[in-house]
Amino acid sequence: MGITILKGDITGQRVDAIVNAANSSLLGGGGVDGAIHRAGGPAILAECRELRASRYERGLPTGQAVATTAGRLEARWVIHTVGPVYSADEDRSALLASCYRESLRVAGELGAGSVAFPAVSAGVYGWPAGSAAQIAVDAVRASATDVDDLRFVLFNDEVYAAFARALG
Ligand code: ADP
Repeated sequence: MGITILKGDITGQRVDAIVNAANSSLLGGGGVDGAIHRAGGPAILAECRELRASRYERGLPTGQAVATTAGRLEARWVIHTVGPVYSADEDRSALLASCYRESLRVAGELGAGSVAFPAVSAGVYGWPAGSAAQIAVDAVRASATDVDDLRFVLFNDEVYAAFARALG
């Protein structure tokens, strides 16, 4: 598996699957979630609503992942995962690692060969960039996956630098 880091907007990536840092409602939010829904159009939200009505009546639990269409995006699928809100009192890093592991598991089920990830939990959910990057890199390196092109697409300099350090 090749791991690369890029700076920019994840919605423009030509990959099989784009991962969304969603919230458990699956009904949209700010940050990368808002950008993905805006760029991908209403088909993504329509499928998210169906998932809420069928499989996830109480929302998608933190650390889990589920795929929908990517609508108008170049990608074929959006894989929605729910990162943990950062806590200084409680170690939630296993849940953050689970987001990457579960997203890669879903990607494998879909047969996706290329996947782009944002820095899950590193925005509104408050995770410090250095720690978020290290957990992400360790989690994908530890995953047994058939994905051969894995990209972290980072939106700002601080997070990009953190992922560069974590990759070593
Ligand atoms: P969370 O609620 O999981 O923290 P956010 O969307 O607030 O999710 O932030 C996650 C990361 O995604 C942050 O580093 C943020 O800067 C970044 N981000 C925001 N918009 C985009 C985008 N269009 N492409 C890639 N990353 C983005």
